[in-house]
Amino acid sequence: MEIRVLPLPDDRKKPKYDDESKLAFGRIFTDRMLLIEWKVGQGWVDARIQPYEPFVLDPACLVFHYAQEIFEGLKAYKWQDGTITLFRPEMNAHRFNLSAERISMPLLPEELFLKGIEDLVRLEKDWIPASEGTSLYIRPTMIAVEPVLGVKPSDHYYFFVILSPVGAYYASGFNPVKIMVEDHYVRAVPGGTGEAKTGGNYASSLKAGLEAKGKGYDQVLWLDGVHRRYIEEVGAMNMFFAYGDTVVTSPLTGSILNGVTRDSVLKLAGSLGFRLEERLIDINELMADVKSGKVTEAFGSGTAAVITPVGTLGYKGENYTVGSGGVGLLTQKLYDTLTGIQYGRIEDRFGWVRKIGQ
Ligand SMILES: *Cc1c(COP(=O)(O)O)cnc(C)c1O
Repeated sequence: MEIRVLPLPDDRKKPKYDDESKLAFGRIFTDRMLLIEWKVGQGWVDARIQPYEPFVLDPACLVFHYAQEIFEGLKAYKWQDGTITLFRPEMNAHRFNLSAERISMPLLPEELFLKGIEDLVRLEKDWIPASEGTSLYIRPTMIAVEPVLGVKPSDHYYFFVILSPVGAYYASGFNPVKIMVEDHYVRAVPGGTGEAKTGGNYASSLKAGLEAKGKGYDQVLWLDGVHRRYIEEVGAMNMFFAYGDTVVTSPLTGSILNGVTRDSVLKLAGSLGFRLEERLIDINELMADVKSGKVTEAFGSGTAAVITPVGTLGYKGENYTVGSGGVGLLTQKLYDTLTGIQYGRIEDRFGWVRKIGQ
Protein backbone atom coordinates (compact mmCIF):
# COMPACT_ATOMS: atom_id res chain seq x y z
CA MET A 1 0.00 0.00 0.00
CA GLU A 2 1.23 3.45 -0.89
CA ILE A 3 1.76 5.81 2.01
CA ARG A 4 1.10 9.40 0.91
CA VAL A 5 3.12 12.21 2.43
CA LEU A 6 1.01 15.32 2.94
CA PRO A 7 2.74 18.71 2.92
CA LEU A 8 3.96 20.17 6.19
CA PRO A 9 3.30 23.91 5.99
CA ASP A 10 5.85 26.15 7.72
CA ASP A 11 3.28 27.32 10.26
CA ARG A 12 2.73 23.71 11.34
CA LYS A 13 6.39 23.15 12.21
CA LYS A 14 7.07 23.14 15.92
CA PRO A 15 10.02 24.72 17.67
CA LYS A 16 12.59 21.95 18.26
CA TYR A 17 13.83 21.23 21.76
CA ASP A 18 17.08 23.11 22.28
CA ASP A 19 18.75 21.04 24.98
CA GLU A 20 18.62 17.28 24.56
CA SER A 21 20.03 16.72 28.03
CA LYS A 22 16.73 18.09 29.40
CA LEU A 23 14.37 15.86 27.43
CA ALA A 24 11.82 14.07 29.59
CA PHE A 25 9.74 11.04 28.57
CA GLY A 26 6.84 11.43 26.16
CA ARG A 27 6.06 15.10 26.62
CA ILE A 28 6.95 16.55 23.24
CA PHE A 29 6.09 15.20 19.82
CA THR A 30 7.49 15.68 16.34
CA ASP A 31 5.90 17.58 13.42
CA ARG A 32 4.31 14.65 11.66
CA MET A 33 2.27 11.53 12.40
CA LEU A 34 1.25 8.42 10.44
CA LEU A 35 -2.44 7.63 10.09
CA ILE A 36 -4.04 4.63 8.36
CA GLU A 37 -7.72 3.80 8.56
CA TRP A 38 -9.53 0.48 8.50
CA LYS A 39 -13.13 0.37 7.37
CA VAL A 40 -15.40 -2.65 7.29
CA GLY A 41 -15.75 -3.97 3.76
CA GLN A 42 -12.68 -2.01 2.61
CA GLY A 43 -9.84 -3.02 4.91
CA TRP A 44 -6.86 -0.69 5.35
CA VAL A 45 -7.26 2.55 3.41
CA ASP A 46 -5.85 6.04 3.03
CA ALA A 47 -2.37 5.64 4.55
CA ARG A 48 -0.83 9.05 5.02
CA ILE A 49 1.91 10.86 6.84
CA GLN A 50 0.43 14.20 7.80
CA PRO A 51 1.12 17.10 10.15
CA TYR A 52 0.78 16.08 13.83
CA GLU A 53 -2.62 17.28 14.94
CA PRO A 54 -5.49 16.53 17.32
CA PHE A 55 -8.24 14.14 16.21
CA VAL A 56 -11.80 15.34 15.98
CA LEU A 57 -13.75 12.36 17.29
CA ASP A 58 -17.40 11.78 18.04
CA PRO A 59 -17.89 11.38 21.80
CA ALA A 60 -19.73 8.12 21.10
CA CYS A 61 -16.63 6.46 19.61
CA LEU A 62 -16.21 2.94 20.95
CA VAL A 63 -12.69 3.54 22.24
CA PHE A 64 -13.99 6.08 24.79
CA HIS A 65 -16.52 3.69 26.25
CA TYR A 66 -15.21 0.17 25.96
CA ALA A 67 -11.45 0.72 25.65
CA GLN A 68 -10.95 -1.06 22.36
CA GLU A 69 -7.36 0.15 22.05
CA ILE A 70 -3.90 -1.37 21.64
CA PHE A 71 -0.44 0.12 21.43
CA GLU A 72 3.25 -0.61 21.03
CA GLY A 73 6.48 1.05 22.18
CA LEU A 74 9.85 0.98 20.45
CA LYS A 75 12.71 3.37 19.76
CA ALA A 76 14.76 4.82 16.92
CA TYR A 77 18.42 5.51 17.67
CA LYS A 78 20.90 7.88 16.05
CA TRP A 79 24.41 6.51 16.21
CA GLN A 80 27.59 8.59 16.52
CA ASP A 81 28.18 8.22 12.76
CA GLY A 82 24.64 9.37 11.96
CA THR A 83 23.20 5.93 11.17
CA ILE A 84 19.53 5.67 12.14
CA THR A 85 18.37 2.32 13.48
CA LEU A 86 15.42 0.50 14.99
CA PHE A 87 15.78 -2.38 17.46
CA ARG A 88 13.92 -5.60 16.58
CA PRO A 89 10.84 -3.75 15.23
CA GLU A 90 9.54 -6.97 13.63
CA MET A 91 8.80 -8.19 17.14
CA ASN A 92 6.64 -5.15 17.81
CA ALA A 93 4.84 -5.60 14.47
CA HIS A 94 4.11 -9.20 15.38
CA ARG A 95 3.05 -8.46 18.95
CA PHE A 96 0.78 -5.65 17.74
CA ASN A 97 -1.20 -8.21 15.80
CA LEU A 98 -1.34 -10.61 18.75
CA SER A 99 -2.83 -7.75 20.77
CA ALA A 100 -5.21 -6.83 17.92
CA GLU A 101 -6.42 -10.40 17.64
CA ARG A 102 -7.03 -10.62 21.40
CA ILE A 103 -9.39 -7.65 21.45
CA SER A 104 -11.02 -8.31 18.08
CA MET A 105 -9.35 -5.61 16.05
CA PRO A 106 -8.25 -6.06 12.42
CA LEU A 107 -4.72 -7.32 11.80
CA LEU A 108 -2.29 -4.88 10.21
CA PRO A 109 0.12 -6.35 7.64
CA GLU A 110 3.50 -6.42 9.40
CA GLU A 111 5.24 -4.90 6.34
CA LEU A 112 2.84 -1.94 6.51
CA PHE A 113 3.50 -1.46 10.23
CA LEU A 114 7.25 -1.48 9.54
CA LYS A 115 7.18 0.64 6.37
CA GLY A 116 4.90 3.23 7.97
CA ILE A 117 7.26 3.61 10.92
CA GLU A 118 10.38 3.69 8.77
CA ASP A 119 8.98 6.32 6.38
CA LEU A 120 7.82 8.46 9.29
CA VAL A 121 11.09 8.19 11.23
CA ARG A 122 13.15 9.01 8.15
CA LEU A 123 11.07 12.15 7.53
CA GLU A 124 11.44 13.16 11.17
CA LYS A 125 15.09 12.20 11.58
CA ASP A 126 16.17 15.68 12.63
CA TRP A 127 14.09 15.15 15.78
CA ILE A 128 16.15 12.13 16.88
CA PRO A 129 18.48 13.22 19.66
CA ALA A 130 22.03 11.94 19.30
CA SER A 131 23.62 11.90 22.74
CA GLU A 132 24.19 8.74 24.73
CA GLY A 133 21.02 7.21 26.11
CA THR A 134 18.63 9.45 24.19
CA SER A 135 16.32 8.20 21.44
CA LEU A 136 13.13 8.81 19.52
CA TYR A 137 10.32 6.90 21.20
CA ILE A 138 7.80 5.46 18.73
CA ARG A 139 4.21 4.91 19.78
CA PRO A 140 2.05 2.90 17.34
CA THR A 141 -1.59 2.80 18.47
CA MET A 142 -4.92 1.51 17.20
CA ILE A 143 -8.29 2.86 18.36
CA ALA A 144 -11.94 2.03 17.61
CA VAL A 145 -13.64 5.10 16.15
CA GLU A 146 -17.11 3.93 15.21
CA PRO A 147 -19.61 6.19 17.05
CA VAL A 148 -22.00 3.70 18.62
CA LEU A 149 -22.80 2.71 22.20
CA GLY A 150 -23.52 -0.96 21.55
CA VAL A 151 -20.81 -3.29 22.83
CA LYS A 152 -19.26 -4.80 19.71
CA PRO A 153 -16.08 -4.65 17.65
CA SER A 154 -15.86 -1.37 15.76
CA ASP A 155 -16.41 -1.09 12.00
CA HIS A 156 -13.86 1.74 11.74
CA TYR A 157 -10.36 2.02 13.24
CA TYR A 158 -7.46 4.46 13.23
CA PHE A 159 -3.94 3.08 13.28
CA PHE A 160 -1.60 5.94 14.08
CA VAL A 161 2.03 6.44 15.02
CA ILE A 162 3.42 9.40 16.92
CA LEU A 163 7.06 10.10 17.80
CA SER A 164 8.58 11.61 20.92
CA PRO A 165 12.23 12.51 21.44
CA VAL A 166 13.18 11.17 24.87
CA GLY A 167 16.08 11.81 27.20
CA ALA A 168 18.50 9.40 28.79
CA TYR A 169 16.66 7.41 31.46
CA TYR A 170 19.75 7.24 33.62
CA ALA A 171 21.18 10.70 32.95
CA SER A 172 22.69 10.75 36.44
CA GLY A 173 23.53 7.04 36.66
CA PHE A 174 21.55 3.95 37.53
CA ASN A 175 19.02 4.46 40.27
CA PRO A 176 17.93 1.21 41.98
CA VAL A 177 14.21 1.31 42.66
CA LYS A 178 12.09 0.27 45.60
CA ILE A 179 9.34 -2.19 44.72
CA MET A 180 6.34 -3.31 46.72
CA VAL A 181 5.07 -6.87 46.29
CA GLU A 182 1.37 -6.41 45.54
CA ASP A 183 -0.67 -9.08 47.27
CA HIS A 184 -4.12 -7.55 46.96
CA TYR A 185 -4.66 -6.15 43.47
CA VAL A 186 -3.79 -8.21 40.38
CA ARG A 187 -2.81 -7.07 36.88
CA ALA A 188 -3.91 -10.02 34.80
CA VAL A 189 -5.57 -13.41 35.04
CA PRO A 190 -5.34 -16.60 32.96
CA GLY A 191 -7.60 -16.17 29.97
CA GLY A 192 -7.57 -12.39 30.36
CA THR A 193 -5.69 -9.71 28.42
CA GLY A 194 -2.36 -9.70 30.29
CA GLU A 195 -0.48 -10.80 27.21
CA ALA A 196 -1.95 -8.03 25.07
CA LYS A 197 -0.60 -4.48 25.06
CA THR A 198 -3.94 -2.82 25.63
CA GLY A 199 -4.68 0.42 27.47
CA GLY A 200 -7.23 -1.20 29.75
CA ASN A 201 -4.49 -3.18 31.49
CA TYR A 202 -2.87 0.09 32.45
CA ALA A 203 -6.05 1.79 33.66
CA SER A 204 -6.66 -1.07 36.06
CA SER A 205 -3.07 -0.95 37.34
CA LEU A 206 -3.11 2.71 38.38
CA LYS A 207 -4.68 2.26 41.81
CA ALA A 208 -2.10 -0.26 42.98
CA GLY A 209 0.69 1.99 41.69
CA LEU A 210 -0.72 5.00 43.54
CA GLU A 211 -1.11 3.13 46.80
CA ALA A 212 2.44 1.81 46.55
CA LYS A 213 3.72 5.35 45.89
CA GLY A 214 1.84 6.52 48.97
CA LYS A 215 3.85 3.98 50.97
CA GLY A 216 7.15 5.17 49.53
CA TYR A 217 7.65 2.63 46.73
CA ASP A 218 8.33 3.32 43.06
CA GLN A 219 6.28 0.49 41.57
CA VAL A 220 4.53 -2.77 42.36
CA LEU A 221 5.59 -6.34 41.73
CA TRP A 222 2.57 -8.21 40.41
CA LEU A 223 1.76 -11.74 41.52
CA ASP A 224 -0.33 -14.19 39.51
CA GLY A 225 -4.04 -13.51 39.61
CA VAL A 226 -5.15 -16.93 40.86
CA HIS A 227 -2.87 -17.83 43.77
CA ARG A 228 -1.23 -14.44 44.36
CA ARG A 229 1.88 -16.51 44.74
CA TYR A 230 3.96 -16.56 41.54
CA ILE A 231 5.85 -13.53 40.32
CA GLU A 232 4.64 -12.02 37.07
CA GLU A 233 5.91 -8.51 36.27
CA VAL A 234 7.07 -5.29 37.86
CA GLY A 235 4.98 -2.27 36.85
CA ALA A 236 5.18 -2.41 33.04
CA MET A 237 8.41 -4.38 32.91
CA ASN A 238 9.35 -8.04 32.91
CA MET A 239 11.15 -9.19 36.04
CA PHE A 240 14.48 -10.96 36.48
CA PHE A 241 16.45 -12.26 39.45
CA ALA A 242 20.08 -13.31 39.62
CA TYR A 243 21.14 -16.22 41.81
CA GLY A 244 24.86 -15.81 41.38
CA ASP A 245 25.50 -16.63 37.71
CA THR A 246 21.98 -17.89 37.10
CA VAL A 247 19.36 -15.58 35.59
CA VAL A 248 15.81 -16.45 36.56
CA THR A 249 12.56 -15.14 35.11
CA SER A 250 8.96 -16.30 34.96
CA PRO A 251 7.91 -18.27 31.89
CA LEU A 252 5.35 -16.67 29.56
CA THR A 253 2.30 -17.96 31.36
CA GLY A 254 -0.27 -16.20 29.19
CA SER A 255 -0.84 -13.41 31.69
CA ILE A 256 2.63 -11.92 31.23
CA LEU A 257 3.53 -9.47 28.48
CA ASN A 258 6.12 -10.97 26.15
CA GLY A 259 8.70 -8.17 26.24
CA VAL A 260 11.17 -7.56 23.42
CA THR A 261 13.67 -6.54 26.08
CA ARG A 262 12.91 -9.70 28.07
CA ASP A 263 13.66 -11.86 25.04
CA SER A 264 16.82 -9.87 24.30
CA VAL A 265 18.03 -10.15 27.90
CA LEU A 266 17.54 -13.90 27.86
CA LYS A 267 19.42 -14.36 24.57
CA LEU A 268 22.16 -12.02 25.65
CA ALA A 269 22.55 -13.60 29.09
CA GLY A 270 22.88 -17.00 27.42
CA SER A 271 25.52 -15.75 25.01
CA LEU A 272 27.45 -14.13 27.87
CA GLY A 273 27.68 -17.50 29.60
CA PHE A 274 25.08 -17.03 32.32
CA ARG A 275 22.77 -19.91 33.15
CA LEU A 276 19.09 -19.34 32.37
CA GLU A 277 16.02 -20.56 34.18
CA GLU A 278 12.48 -19.80 33.08
CA ARG A 279 10.37 -21.12 35.92
CA LEU A 280 7.54 -20.16 38.22
CA ILE A 281 8.96 -18.10 41.07
CA ASP A 282 7.14 -18.55 44.37
CA ILE A 283 7.08 -15.28 46.30
CA ASN A 284 7.67 -16.92 49.68
CA GLU A 285 10.69 -18.85 48.41
CA LEU A 286 11.95 -15.74 46.69
CA MET A 287 11.70 -13.59 49.81
CA ALA A 288 13.50 -16.29 51.81
CA ASP A 289 16.24 -16.33 49.17
CA VAL A 290 16.48 -12.54 49.23
CA LYS A 291 16.82 -12.64 53.02
CA SER A 292 19.47 -15.35 52.99
CA GLY A 293 21.42 -13.57 50.26
CA LYS A 294 20.93 -16.29 47.62
CA VAL A 295 19.24 -13.74 45.37
CA THR A 296 22.11 -11.47 44.45
CA GLU A 297 20.42 -9.09 42.02
CA ALA A 298 16.99 -8.13 40.72
CA PHE A 299 15.98 -6.00 37.77
CA GLY A 300 13.10 -5.15 35.46
CA SER A 301 13.31 -4.97 31.66
CA GLY A 302 11.41 -2.83 29.16
CA THR A 303 11.94 -0.58 26.17
CA ALA A 304 11.69 2.73 28.03
CA ALA A 305 14.43 2.20 30.64
CA VAL A 306 16.00 -0.95 29.09
CA ILE A 307 16.97 -2.30 32.52
CA THR A 308 15.88 -1.05 35.92
CA PRO A 309 17.80 -2.36 38.94
CA VAL A 310 15.66 -3.23 41.95
CA GLY A 311 17.41 -2.42 45.25
CA THR A 312 14.61 -3.05 47.72
CA LEU A 313 11.59 -5.34 47.86
CA GLY A 314 8.78 -4.59 50.29
CA TYR A 315 6.61 -7.53 51.31
CA LYS A 316 3.85 -7.56 53.91
CA GLY A 317 5.07 -4.31 55.42
CA GLU A 318 8.75 -5.20 55.66
CA ASN A 319 11.60 -4.09 53.44
CA TYR A 320 14.30 -6.43 52.18
CA THR A 321 17.49 -5.31 50.49
CA VAL A 322 18.37 -7.26 47.35
CA GLY A 323 22.06 -8.18 47.27
CA SER A 324 24.04 -5.04 48.08
CA GLY A 325 21.05 -2.81 47.37
CA GLY A 326 23.07 -1.25 44.58
CA VAL A 327 23.62 -2.25 40.96
CA GLY A 328 24.94 -5.77 40.57
CA LEU A 329 27.64 -6.84 38.12
CA LEU A 330 25.33 -9.01 36.06
CA THR A 331 22.72 -6.24 35.78
CA GLN A 332 25.40 -3.77 34.74
CA LYS A 333 26.89 -6.18 32.20
CA LEU A 334 23.53 -6.88 30.58
CA TYR A 335 22.67 -3.18 30.47
CA ASP A 336 26.03 -2.21 28.98
CA THR A 337 25.89 -4.93 26.35
CA LEU A 338 22.30 -4.35 25.32
CA THR A 339 22.66 -0.57 25.09
CA GLY A 340 26.03 -1.10 23.40
CA ILE A 341 24.29 -3.02 20.62
CA GLN A 342 21.47 -0.48 20.42
CA TYR A 343 23.89 2.45 20.08
CA GLY A 344 26.23 0.69 17.67
CA ARG A 345 29.22 0.43 20.02
CA ILE A 346 29.06 -3.35 20.22
CA GLU A 347 28.75 -5.63 17.22
CA ASP A 348 25.24 -7.02 16.78
CA ARG A 349 25.72 -10.77 16.40
CA PHE A 350 21.99 -11.43 16.71
CA GLY A 351 20.65 -9.51 13.69
CA TRP A 352 18.60 -7.26 15.98
CA VAL A 353 19.57 -3.87 14.60
CA ARG A 354 17.64 -2.59 11.57
CA LYS A 355 19.42 0.26 9.80
CA ILE A 356 16.84 2.54 8.19
CA GLY A 357 18.81 5.60 7.15
CA GLN A 358 21.66 7.95 7.64
C1 LIG B 1 5.46 -3.13 27.05
C2 LIG B 1 5.43 -3.92 28.31
C3 LIG B 1 6.57 -4.61 28.79
C4 LIG B 1 7.93 -4.50 28.18
O1 LIG B 1 7.98 -4.90 26.86
P1 LIG B 1 9.20 -4.43 25.95
O2 LIG B 1 8.86 -5.00 24.62
O3 LIG B 1 10.43 -5.00 26.52
O4 LIG B 1 9.20 -2.94 25.96
C5 LIG B 1 6.43 -5.39 29.93
N1 LIG B 1 5.25 -5.46 30.59
C6 LIG B 1 4.16 -4.80 30.17
C7 LIG B 1 2.89 -4.94 30.93
C8 LIG B 1 4.20 -4.02 29.01
O5 LIG B 1 3.11 -3.36 28.61
